[in-house]
Amino acid sequence: MPSPARTIVDIRIVESHNASERNAVMYHAAMTDARPTPPASARRLRWLLALPKLGIVLLLVAVLTLIWLLHSNEVEEERSALIKDVLWLEQNLRFHLDGNQEQLQQLALEMSSEPNRQKHFRLRAEHLRKNSPDIAQILWLDANRQIIDALPTANHLDRDIEPFGPTAAARAFELASQLGKQQYSEPFFLEGNSAFIELLVPIFSERKLTGMLALVYPLDTLLASQVPWWFTEKYKVEIVDDNDRLFASKTHIAGKHNQSYEIPFDPPGAGLLLRVTNYNAPDNSLQRLLVAAIILLASGVFWSLWLVRELMKKRSLAEDALREEHAFRAAMENSLTVGMRARDLVGRVIYVNPAFCRMTGFSAAELVNQAPPMPYWAPEQLEETYAMHQTVLAGDAPPDGFEITFMRKNGERFQALIYEAKLIDGNGRHTGWMASVLDITERKHAQELARQQQEQLQFTSRLVTMGEMASTLAHELNQPLAAIASYNTGCQNLLNSGKASPQEILPALEKIGLQAQRAGKIIRRVHDFVRKSEPKRAPCQFGEVVEDCLGFVEAEGRKRHVRIECDIPPLPPIPADRLMLEQVLLNLIRNGMEAMAGNPETERVLSIATTIRDNELQVSVSDNGSGIAPEIRDKLFTAFFTTKPEGMGVGLSICRSIIEFHRGRLWVEDNPHSPTGSGTIFIFTLPLDAA
Ligand code: ADP
Repeated sequence: MPSPARTIVDIRIVESHNASERNAVMYHAAMTDARPTPPASARRLRWLLALPKLGIVLLLVAVLTLIWLLHSNEVEEERSALIKDVLWLEQNLRFHLDGNQEQLQQLALEMSSEPNRQKHFRLRAEHLRKNSPDIAQILWLDANRQIIDALPTANHLDRDIEPFGPTAAARAFELASQLGKQQYSEPFFLEGNSAFIELLVPIFSERKLTGMLALVYPLDTLLASQVPWWFTEKYKVEIVDDNDRLFASKTHIAGKHNQSYEIPFDPPGAGLLLRVTNYNAPDNSLQRLLVAAIILLASGVFWSLWLVRELMKKRSLAEDALREEHAFRAAMENSLTVGMRARDLVGRVIYVNPAFCRMTGFSAAELVNQAPPMPYWAPEQLEETYAMHQTVLAGDAPPDGFEITFMRKNGERFQALIYEAKLIDGNGRHTGWMASVLDITERKHAQELARQQQEQLQFTSRLVTMGEMASTLAHELNQPLAAIASYNTGCQNLLNSGKASPQEILPALEKIGLQAQRAGKIIRRVHDFVRKSEPKRAPCQFGEVVEDCLGFVEAEGRKRHVRIECDIPPLPPIPADRLMLEQVLLNLIRNGMEAMAGNPETERVLSIATTIRDNELQVSVSDNGSGIAPEIRDKLFTAFFTTKPEGMGVGLSICRSIIEFHRGRLWVEDNPHSPTGSGTIFIFTLPLDAA
């Protein structure tokens, strides 16, 4: 379950015209003020993000170095393999040439002593050619370099060709004869572009040069037969001289050469070099692809890191803002005096604020997750509370709030005023109910006190009215009492005369009774008026209320010369406290009569009228009096406001309380129909239906 604080961050309070809405608005206003401060962790974040970047750069450098090392290692290996192979080839060629040379030396030795030299030459030469197919020709020359015999043809291959001045072969012949030992010629070209070398071995008999044996090697054929196929798969083999003149080459593949190695080709010597060149590794595009992929991947990682950095920056900002907001909300929640309670859709408590805990005396841990009946429900009102709980869950809670009695942990009861609103989460889903709870026990107490004071005031006001009316009433009572007394004297006289018949006395006695009733009525009215009683609304006839009032003010009206016009049509009974209405009417009538004190006697008219409109009874009391100055109009209904020297100033204030107690309104207007041009109308309304 999310923590309460988190829950409150996600909720919105709707459909509220009450304290919770005000709180929500307050939250909003406060939140608008509480803008997040710039993030303190931004620098730390930058450092944190720099580390993986550095790591990637180092990794990239390491990978590239590794690739470079591998490459140079490979080149090195290639080179040593090349050198090894070249040495092997050179050795191979040398073996072959040396072998042939030995055989030729052997033949030369044999021919110096052999009687049938011709036959022997042919035999051995044939044998030699068969074993070494790279030998183009084997010659037997005399001391003057004339051919005695030759295989396969009798011609000398280098005849008439002198690529380097005197023919290379002739020079070698000279040298071999002079030195008396075998000699290789310099390379020479024959038959187009083919290059040849010649091995010359002198034949001595009895220390005298008698001839010369010569082996002619075409260099191409030498390479073709002596360089194995696998070698040419890897390398290009060339025979060159110091001047880079090419004499022969053998290769199988075409392509860009990579590295080459040269070694002296000796024998035959004469400045010849054996050059072996290898080719690029068949395919190092894979390697290049790998490098490109690594670079691409690294840049991808960089890019994603940058994105992550941006994202984290935003996230960190949002987190900071959220933290601030959360702290602010928590501070607000703690300082709230209104109790907040959130319940889920089944009525289980999911959140209570500290004010609610203080109010009930239970801790949040004791309340959260509680299902009905709640521990703060008053046991004696369990049924009503449960019914209200069901009403709230059904979504029918009164929008203006409702009052309920709750119980504190210590058993003390308190009056709570509750406003319920829907709990809407961040996705707009209705997830429960949010209540703002006010402890109105004190307020209720104060209201009750005020009501009692008001009643007391009403009573006092009645006493004051009574005092003022006492003299008028005394005068009023005098009349019936005087009448009773005179009728009584008359009766006594008649009885004393002894002539009186009962028929004569009876009417007088009846009149006495009537006058006594009238006096009794007056006294009862006064008694009723003064008697303090609880307000009770009961159906009453407004006409009778007016009649009673007129009975009260009749005498005063006569004294003040005020004509009271009253035309009350038959009205339906109204639910009202009769005595209170009488008090209102009496007050308005008396104020009206007093306001007309300065009028000529003929223009002292007070009228009482009623109309029924919108299921309300509207009563107006109009006079032609002094009217009300605009500057005091607003103060009329405030308690103790008076313009009269002996006035108390509570009459109109009490009238308004009484009318509002009856769910009506009381207001004042100027009298537009007054013949004096001034005058006032006091109007009040009373609803006709009891609620
Ligand atoms: P009191 O009559 O003791 O002064 P009220 O509350 O009844 O107290 O009236 C307050 C004031 O309202 C009066 O002092 C008077 O100035 C003014 N007032 C009330 N009724 C009328 C009226 N009909 N015409 C003019 N002024 C009036």
